[in-house]
Amino acid sequence: MDLLNGRGPVLFVGHGSPMNAIGDNRARTGWRAMGEQLGRPKAIVALSAHWATRGRCVRTAADNPQINDMYGFPAALYEVRYEPAGDPVVAERVIEALAPDVKARNDWGIDHGAWSVLCNMYPAADVPVVMLSTDLAAAPDAHFDVGRRLAALREEGVMIVCSGNVVHNLRMVNWRMRDGFDWAQTFDDAVRERVLAGDYQPLVDFEELPDAHLAIPTTEHYLPLLTALGAATPDDEPTCFNDYCELGSMSMTSFLFR
Ligand code: ZN
Repeated sequence: MDLLNGRGPVLFVGHGSPMNAIGDNRARTGWRAMGEQLGRPKAIVALSAHWATRGRCVRTAADNPQINDMYGFPAALYEVRYEPAGDPVVAERVIEALAPDVKARNDWGIDHGAWSVLCNMYPAADVPVVMLSTDLAAAPDAHFDVGRRLAALREEGVMIVCSGNVVHNLRMVNWRMRDGFDWAQTFDDAVRERVLAGDYQPLVDFEELPDAHLAIPTTEHYLPLLTALGAATPDDEPTCFNDYCELGSMSMTSFLFR
């Protein structure tokens, strides 16, 4: 199915370890299936936790140089090449939607938060990608509002992919654990329940959720979820995929709104 004339879906994708991009793992299987299920959109606006800025930035160039912003992993990971085209026209639409709270910036490319997921969803790199940053200076409700303002682009066949993690505590990662610590699962459950119920305000006020201080010691991986929620509309049916925790303190839980 091709979405060229359809409404673009919204995804929040848990990316987790960069190693999920390659080899045999559950996340990758889920990403591939999602790409096949959704078909090719006209373009993707990709919001990455790893392009963290002060003020909201969008890449407007016609290309996306790959950024390997991860260190100390096996050589095979650095051999992945994924450089889809940019889309200056869609980037301009993003600027229109977010003005005056956005600026064009072309000193960043497609980082692993975006490419680890997209190289599995669209392995041919044949869908243009417009990179959008995570504004660490903005309040949580402003992240939600960015999604709300981007929702109009969905009507033009643009898919919105927000890449982060619901639970992301690097200091507590345990590489031997296949699942999550109890607190990670508790927090992940609390988030999933509210997303699927369309009960978004408690997720914007996430500090009140159980074990939020452990699940979100820094906010950059969580905030992309709020942008995805903002871009969802009441007629979307939210569904969950890659629904699990791993490495103790990481949740891969992902959502599709369409
Ligand atoms: Zn990350």
